[in-house]
Amino acid sequence: MKADEKIEKYDVALVGGGLVGAVAALSLSQFTDRDFKLLLIERPDFASPKRHEGRAYALSEGSRMLLEMLGLWQAIEPHAQPIEEIDITDSELETVFRPVFLHFEGEIAMGRPGAYIIEHEVLAEPIYDQLFKAQNIHIHTEGAFSGLETGIESGLDAAELLFDDGSETAQALFKADLVIGADGRGSRVRDFAGIKTFTSDYNQDGIVVTVELRQPHGGKAVQHFLPSGPFAILPLTNDRASLVWTEARGVAAEMCALSDDEFIGEVNKRFSPKLGTVALSGRRGHFPLSLLLARSFIGPRVVLIGDAAHGVHPLAGQGMNIGFRDVAALTEILVETRRLGLDIGGDVALTKYQTWRRSDGVMSAFAMDGLNRLFTAEASSLRELRGFGLRLVDRLPPVKDFFVKEAAGVNGDVPKLMQGLEI
Ligand SMILES: Cc1cc2nc3c(=O)[nH]c(=O)nc-3n(C[C@H](O)[C@H](O)[C@H](O)COP(=O)(O)OP(=O)(O)OC[C@H]3O[C@@H](n4cnc5c(N)ncnc54)[C@H](O)[C@@H]3O)c2cc1C
Repeated sequence: MKADEKIEKYDVALVGGGLVGAVAALSLSQFTDRDFKLLLIERPDFASPKRHEGRAYALSEGSRMLLEMLGLWQAIEPHAQPIEEIDITDSELETVFRPVFLHFEGEIAMGRPGAYIIEHEVLAEPIYDQLFKAQNIHIHTEGAFSGLETGIESGLDAAELLFDDGSETAQALFKADLVIGADGRGSRVRDFAGIKTFTSDYNQDGIVVTVELRQPHGGKAVQHFLPSGPFAILPLTNDRASLVWTEARGVAAEMCALSDDEFIGEVNKRFSPKLGTVALSGRRGHFPLSLLLARSFIGPRVVLIGDAAHGVHPLAGQGMNIGFRDVAALTEILVETRRLGLDIGGDVALTKYQTWRRSDGVMSAFAMDGLNRLFTAEASSLRELRGFGLRLVDRLPPVKDFFVKEAAGVNGDVPKLMQGLEI
């Protein structure tokens, strides 16, 4: 271990610069005071546009507002497709006519879309541009992050972050009042803090691909619930669409190994007949789907954000949105805590974060889990019941309004930055 005086001290050490971690770094650097020292720990090449190539996100109005508050939305807006309408169907693959059981208007108020579909590269480029220009964020990409001393047993006044440099013992290179784990589903911060997880494998993969439509989509998103899992058609600019297609694990690998013609044939079988046939645009990829929930979102001098805290089924496109809500809430708490002169890694701040964010993470994860299980159950009696339930919701405007606002991230205890309010 290094002599204490050689260990660099930061207010916050953020491990993981995926989109949630990178936005957290920007948010903290923008809204905290000038003296705030922020360290971001990542692997080399973390900002490569090839990561998550072909993936698109359904970003809610709340997430859009956070991006606007960070000065990022202007660069994203020209390439973001507002969702004007959403159709939900529930039928077997062979069914030619897929009746729409539930239809939503996409706007939460006149001229205010509840969500936008945005491609990964479109979102990532301005975020990483701004990250690399930020004066008060130190980015460290050398060596492997290999341990965390949180100071509880050793009586340290701050957490120490250890790194492997090839020698026998790991070196403590940095100290921080608070360590933020934004290091994804396999979070090492979570492991080092001794936080256990609840996991459940869906035995499904999400196939992600972009297609060109032969007819205008008019901003309509479609969610076909098929017996193998949801098949989502998310409209993109220039009459393209991003498909998020859930299949049993083995089938997804087989689909992705098909020739382009065979693959597009399978897509067209599942596609909305009203939208016509489609052509491939870009590469296809498939990702294993599982539920992951940290048993606590905090540990000694540690908080978890994004997929490190909660990994949800992508059927409602909420993963990134929940992560951005973590960021906005955490920024608000840390700014207030510092203004009060309190310890940002202390119990008061951490408990506030846990109370605010854990129920949202848990409820979202189990809501997606329940919907996935309900809609992949094949019994015809269940299908009838689902049809009845969806039609019932369709006839209840206040319930529909609630769902649209929920998906737009404007219901409940919304952090100030997601309401466009300064902190
Ligand atoms: C098929 C699919 C479709 C999806 N569609 C949507 C959608 O429409 N809308 C939506 O909101 N969400 C969607 N999601 C979810 C969304 O992609 C994730 O919730 C989001 O990417 C999580 O971001 P993150 O930054 O928390 O984690 P990650 O993107 O996993 O980033 C973690 C980062 O931590 C770094 N890291 C890890 N370990 C270390 C270490 N030891 N040291 C240093 N750095 C480390 C990694 O290099 C990485 O950059 C989808 C997910 C899937 C699988």
